[in-house]
Amino acid sequence: MDTCIFCRIAQGEIPADIVHQDADIVVFRDLNPQAPVHVLAVPRKHIASLTEPGAADGAMLASVFRGVQQIASKLGLEQGFRVVTNCGEFGGQTVGHIHFHILGKRHMQWPPG
Ligand code: AMP
Repeated sequence: MDTCIFCRIAQGEIPADIVHQDADIVVFRDLNPQAPVHVLAVPRKHIASLTEPGAADGAMLASVFRGVQQIASKLGLEQGFRVVTNCGEFGGQTVGHIHFHILGKRHMQWPPG
């Protein structure tokens, strides 16, 4: 998807503060952080959201959660962290390429806003 901003970041066409990447995912710092650590784990493959057929593909989810584990360790999130994927309008999704927010280094509230 030429116009998808997260595809373009994954392809290195537009800059991002990348903290981890491998064959399947890229992880970069959110432009508008909501916690002292706020990064986005993004599969390289364009999947619009969790509702898209194939979004629950085991291999894709495994690579995302492997990345989450590596990032949690690399960014010092031993005290805990939160992983969020917003889905659709009511879920608060603003970028139409599936991504997993990883937030850490502060106490999280529940319920979320
Ligand atoms: P969501 O609202 O769940 O779709 O999350 C989209 C996130 O992407 C927001 O937290 C934005 O701040 C973030 N974002 C949008 N564009 C960029 C970008 N170019 N680099 C890093 N983060 C971005």
